[in-house]
Amino acid sequence: MIMVKYKVEVDHKLCIGCGACTVACDNFVMNGDKAKPVNAEVESLGCNQEAADGCPVEAIKIHKVE
Ligand code: SF4
Repeated sequence: MIMVKYKVEVDHKLCIGCGACTVACDNFVMNGDKAKPVNAEVESLGCNQEAADGCPVEAIKIHKVE
């Protein structure tokens, strides 16, 4: 069985600290004026995708890892 996981990253060069991702998904918290994922690897995307879709500067990157 292949285990698929997703790596969740916030590009701090792009993040403008608006906080939208922390509202959209509880896997994001603010760290100073930048957002960061609580868990950088998740087994299902869940609200992480919504947070990425809702980020105004597309700072949230999601990669599949196997
Ligand atoms: Fe940063 Fe995007 Fe989250 Fe706003 S939604 S805090 S720009 S990662």
